[in-house]
Amino acid sequence: MAHYATALPFIPQRRTLATLRAAAAACQGCDLYLKATQTVFGEGVVPSRLMLVGETPGEHEDRAGRPFVGPAGSLLDESIAAAGLDRGTIYVTNAVKHFRWEERGKRRLHKKPSSREVGACHPWLEAEIAHYYDTVVDPRSGLVRSDRKFSAHRDTVVNRSNAFGNSMVALLAKTIEETGWFTSPFERHFEGDYGRLLIEHFWVGDHFRDALGDETVSGEANIWPFYTGVLADPLHVASALRYLDANGFCDPYPLRYETSRRPEREVWLTRHVLPDYQGSTVWTSLGAMYLQVLRTVDPLLAASETARYVSWIERDGTL
Ligand code: SF4
Repeated sequence: MAHYATALPFIPQRRTLATLRAAAAACQGCDLYLKATQTVFGEGVVPSRLMLVGETPGEHEDRAGRPFVGPAGSLLDESIAAAGLDRGTIYVTNAVKHFRWEERGKRRLHKKPSSREVGACHPWLEAEIAHYYDTVVDPRSGLVRSDRKFSAHRDTVVNRSNAFGNSMVALLAKTIEETGWFTSPFERHFEGDYGRLLIEHFWVGDHFRDALGDETVSGEANIWPFYTGVLADPLHVASALRYLDANGFCDPYPLRYETSRRPEREVWLTRHVLPDYQGSTVWTSLGAMYLQVLRTVDPLLAASETARYVSWIERDGTL
């Protein structure tokens, strides 16, 4: 029998994937380690676009020591590919790290872990999530780290800590806390007020600036905080929309990303192939979000603007 009621005593002080994986290999937080072949810890890229959490390892995972291999892994690979993603770019793990099984003749039959075992193993999942968090968020400020580049290769500009990225982190924090599934690593920074950091660091009187240490304004920075619902104060919404309208973001209609080019932020390919990518391009996706945000403060204007937008789409056949 295990001498421990939880995995907590086995969690290392220093959290990297390597230290966590090594410590989990010796875990005796519940009885499951006694019959399983080995610990099956998470694997993949951190930070990644997606972190997938399964329930528990099966027979194939237990033998291989890796999550999501065998038939379940093949099915997952197909699903990931169908979603347009690549398994090599995501992180996969399980809520419970050892295979639970019972003997049936010569076979080992998978058994669902008990709620006690799921609870005992929870510190590992929380540690994986906390490690993931540390790679994206500055633990002192709670803002997206400005010492890392995001989207540098997949997108066409270099993004660091900006209003868009921080809106997405605030949305994630809000969603995690609403589920109540685990202790959110974001708790200490947001304290239930998800828009607070955005206002403190990006709001400049009557609109949002685009990024830390950069006074440039973007349409994106003034739509995402409201579109994600992390900020809903109508005064802020109305002010930001007024600013966009008064400063040329809505001309051409419905919304420009920026009103001038910033070649220093573009990756080399963009500079040559899409020189006007963010300078005067109208972003139709942002336009639809803009209309949705406008609806929250001026439904009548939003309805007439939407009708105008629809008529242009029909006229130009750009559906
Ligand atoms: S299932 Fe989790 S808590 Fe239990 S021994 Fe394995 S790693 Fe530790």
